[in-house]
Amino acid sequence: MEIHPKITPIYQTSVFKFEDLHELESYFESPESRYMYSRNGNPNSDELANAVTKLEAGAGGIATGSGMAAIFAALLAYCQAGDHVLCAADIYGGSSSLLNAELSRMNITVTYVPFDALYSLAEFVKPTTRVLLAETISNPLLRVADLRQLAEECHRYGLKLIVDNTFASPILTRPLALGADITLHSVTKYIAGHSDVTAGAVVAADPDVAVRLKEIGMHYGLTLSPMESWLAVRGLKTLHLRIRQHCLNAMAIAEFLNQHPSVAAVYYPGLPTHPQHVLAAEQGKGLFGGMLSFKIADEAEKVNQLMRRSQRFPFAPSLAGVDSSLSYPLGTSHRYLTPEQQQQLGITTGLIRLSAGIEPVDELIADLEQALA
Ligand SMILES: *Cc1c(COP(=O)(O)O)cnc(C)c1O
Repeated sequence: MEIHPKITPIYQTSVFKFEDLHELESYFESPESRYMYSRNGNPNSDELANAVTKLEAGAGGIATGSGMAAIFAALLAYCQAGDHVLCAADIYGGSSSLLNAELSRMNITVTYVPFDALYSLAEFVKPTTRVLLAETISNPLLRVADLRQLAEECHRYGLKLIVDNTFASPILTRPLALGADITLHSVTKYIAGHSDVTAGAVVAADPDVAVRLKEIGMHYGLTLSPMESWLAVRGLKTLHLRIRQHCLNAMAIAEFLNQHPSVAAVYYPGLPTHPQHVLAAEQGKGLFGGMLSFKIADEAEKVNQLMRRSQRFPFAPSLAGVDSSLSYPLGTSHRYLTPEQQQQLGITTGLIRLSAGIEPVDELIADLEQALA
């Protein structure tokens, strides 16, 4: 009986069989011809890597066990001991922890570049600087980086640009097309999209860098499991539909919050008052993403009340799932920044991050209305 599954089955196997020495030899002659060991390659993780590579229009990439593993792999693709990294000051808390606590031990040093200085890097660049790491849309204040300008500025000094494209997704923005050298995702977020997978992906513009990423994945064991890969591929098939609804819902919620008397500020690139609104519209093809943040009074008890009262926005320190959620940057993603860094970035007691899901938006707004009352 021949089996012709319509979709790729889950190859839940750690290893693949060889008939004889001849087969083993032919594998080593052309490793692309078959599979040997799932840490080195598996049909499910390759399917995910290829799908994200296609979406990002890159030369090649890898699927990783998490978004953090993706960031690690991207940095190692260009850096070794003694090198220096520039990192946008507005960055995912885990990225700065990786740089501060771990890569520093490998003698890879970091300098943080304030958002307003991103396009004039002269004073930050050293002879050992190799890369700049930035996000298309930053966490948690939704600042939008001009990737074309940033890539030009990086390349002027021979630096590679690594873009964490998690918040935007490739539906809004394809960093490689704008000049970035590597783009990466926490697949945990929009790409998988259902809050049931932890995964990452890294995609390079240059085929040689893609080969290097594959080696890094194998040697450090950053590989993603078959089951997680399969779930992420299933999620990815609806990415373009989900993103549209996430964006519509986020826009409606941002407009609602913007006119609410208890809300002091709303951070959403879709609002005309957002400082990078015009850039966001151009770079995001008229879509502004599903993430927003807002400020209420700087009182922990007020934040507690809102979290307890809301029914449709569970407090869950992640984002980008089909179900809406709230998060609290000061207590979670940006907890380990110094108080000065928190202050400089505007991460205060009253700052709440909202991930708009794809539920009926009037239900979401009604829930926020009663929770804020
Ligand atoms: C969540 C997140 C990460 C880390 O991804 P994990 O899958 O949790 O390891 C990196 N960057 C951004 C922007 C994120 O939101």
